[in-house]
Amino acid sequence: MVIFKKISDIKKYVSAETGKGHKIGFVPTLGALHEGHLSLIQKALEDKMLPLCSIFLNPTQFNDIRDLEKYPVSTEADIELLLKAGCEVLFMPDVNEMYPGGESHTRTYDFGYLDTILEGAKRPGHFKGVGQVVARLLEIVTPDNLYLGQKDYQQCMVIKKLAVMMGLDKLQIVICPTLRESDGLAMSSRNRRLTEPQRIVASTIYQCLVSIQSKQQISSFAIVRKECEDILTAKGFEPDYVALADARDLTILDDYKKDIPMVALIAAKIGEIRLIDNLLL
Ligand code: AMP
Repeated sequence: MVIFKKISDIKKYVSAETGKGHKIGFVPTLGALHEGHLSLIQKALEDKMLPLCSIFLNPTQFNDIRDLEKYPVSTEADIELLLKAGCEVLFMPDVNEMYPGGESHTRTYDFGYLDTILEGAKRPGHFKGVGQVVARLLEIVTPDNLYLGQKDYQQCMVIKKLAVMMGLDKLQIVICPTLRESDGLAMSSRNRRLTEPQRIVASTIYQCLVSIQSKQQISSFAIVRKECEDILTAKGFEPDYVALADARDLTILDDYKKDIPMVALIAAKIGEIRLIDNLLL
């Protein structure tokens, strides 16, 4: 495993590897890795890329300081997992390396509509921070392919828009399916913080997404949404949103539409832990 902490060193490494004809498949993460992250590495390997992972707990994308403070950190275990998955290059900068002139002096992007709905509305400043860090990472790593998880559907759309704004027309963005636990719960670093009783009910989010999917022929979305909100609340969640959107541009839909790809999205808090998930319809 080669671990780079300095931008100048990873840049030198990337330029040497690309000089040898290797293509870089980049997997940016916040750390606390799990099988979901490793599936992105796996996909990069299948695509014959040199997988390069970054672990950077980016403070500028956390609108809630307690969420940042309690975010799980497990660097040793992460390195073990990366090695097992076949990833031998890790970029792990610190905050000063990423934002040398201070966070407020690093370029940010405006995602317009995408930043006003769902996660954008519930987590003000979150996508500004995501855009800021991903832009910086893309400039440093200059990957051929960027691997993202569908688990963060809106984030995928934001990053696609970012790539357009940055003029990265050669960058291939590869969206990988959400890996789930056996009961359907989407794998997430935040799941580690769930207590045993919370973990037992956590798959309710996925069950609600499946019911939104399966009832599209027989019910109105308003009714299904209300059912989901009631079920989530009864199980101890505080739902942030239960939403249906056009999968192509995230236009929010009031009801099911025929002939367009749709995505159902849920965000809900259980105790202090906020979980998100989505399902294509
Ligand atoms: P994070 O460390 O949470 O920022 O995630 C890093 C990358 O892994 C993002 O592109 C996520 O969408 C992706 N990811 C997170 N959880 C999963 C999952 N359960 N399945 C597939 N990809 C995931």
